[in-house]
Amino acid sequence: MKNYNVGVIGATGMVGQRFVTLLAEHPWFKIKVLAASGRSAGKTYREAVGAKWAMKTPIPEKIGDIIVRDAIADMAQIASEVDFVFCAVDMPSEEIIALEEGYAKLECPVVSNNKEHRLYPDVPMLIPECNSEHLAVIETQRKRLGTKRGFIAVKPNCSIQSYVPALHPLKEYGISAVLACNYQAISGAGKTFETWPEMVDNLIPFIKGEEQKSEIEPMKIWGEVKDGVIVPAEKPLITTQCLRVPVSDGHTSAVFVKFERKPLKEEIIKAWSEYKGEPQRLGLPSAPKQFLNYFEDDNRPQAKLDRDLEGGMAVSIGRLREDSLFDYKFVCLSHNTLRGAAGGGVLVAELLAAKGYFD
Ligand code: NAP
Repeated sequence: MKNYNVGVIGATGMVGQRFVTLLAEHPWFKIKVLAASGRSAGKTYREAVGAKWAMKTPIPEKIGDIIVRDAIADMAQIASEVDFVFCAVDMPSEEIIALEEGYAKLECPVVSNNKEHRLYPDVPMLIPECNSEHLAVIETQRKRLGTKRGFIAVKPNCSIQSYVPALHPLKEYGISAVLACNYQAISGAGKTFETWPEMVDNLIPFIKGEEQKSEIEPMKIWGEVKDGVIVPAEKPLITTQCLRVPVSDGHTSAVFVKFERKPLKEEIIKAWSEYKGEPQRLGLPSAPKQFLNYFEDDNRPQAKLDRDLEGGMAVSIGRLREDSLFDYKFVCLSHNTLRGAAGGGVLVAELLAAKGYFD
């Protein structure tokens, strides 16, 4: 595989730091540019991040001395120096749309963790194991943006990245209704227990905008490409509740599901253990070997024990049993800043590279 020079926009933030950590030793992608706001521009990465560094490992030695650029003021220069950028920024929505389209129109593809472009019908929103065929809409998007090479691809919200993968191989049984209660870690809010001490011994029953995202985004993931755009699926009916819980990393989901044709419990477990997506078939560097992992032990999955499975890129599932209102219920877990954020973004970029979209 060819090597690619990459930029990280929002490199000083929580997701940006994850990108930096994951990319420091990546076999295909080499960090060439780190960019953030004007507040960080001109400083070394080490100075700009300072006490905000929240990763368990230190800032990679060769990255700490890179001078941070201004993502907006230096856009044209950055776009000319890299093959594509990752983007995870905290800015007003209209500024994020302008920033991402700005890079794409400068013929620099954007792999985004931001929510702003997720529901555009010609922007692929990818869980690479579930809907890699949606890459086909990039051609339509390029026509809209007037680009030859530039485009935007996004990954979905972290809250759906345990239960959508777990339900995906069961679609052949006709999933008719889903209820998912999501117990979400504090790193999903860009926080640690040091920066958010109120979360110790606490639970907050509201995460702004999250239930909407976790009900709407699966319909796009399960949508079909028609006439060059993604047409969202019309079923299943999905209802969710999203709660913030005192866990550092790892979103857990308690899922109830109803089918048109109820499978046997053994058929569900077999579908999970045998499921392979495009990343496994292509052998992408960040792809977990076993995407969906079923635990027989009633005490699993646990955030602390299982979130780091396969580098935090695998999904853990347990407690599958029949339900009196729905057909089945189960619990599933994924790492919200790895599979659910930067790791998922890197996997999307690997898929795009393997399919030739950066050439
Ligand atoms: P964060 O820690 O607050 O970091 C925000 C980043 O945006 C910083 O690098 C900041 O740079 C940069 N920024 C702010 N204003 C800017 C400007 N005017 N121009 C250029 N850069 C600017 O946020 P985060 O938690 O990493 O989240 C970033 C994005 O990812 C958000 O859209 C969020 O919804 C999404 N996301 C987060 C998670 C998660 O698990 N945390 C998961 C999925 C998606 P300075 O340091 O210079 O201010």
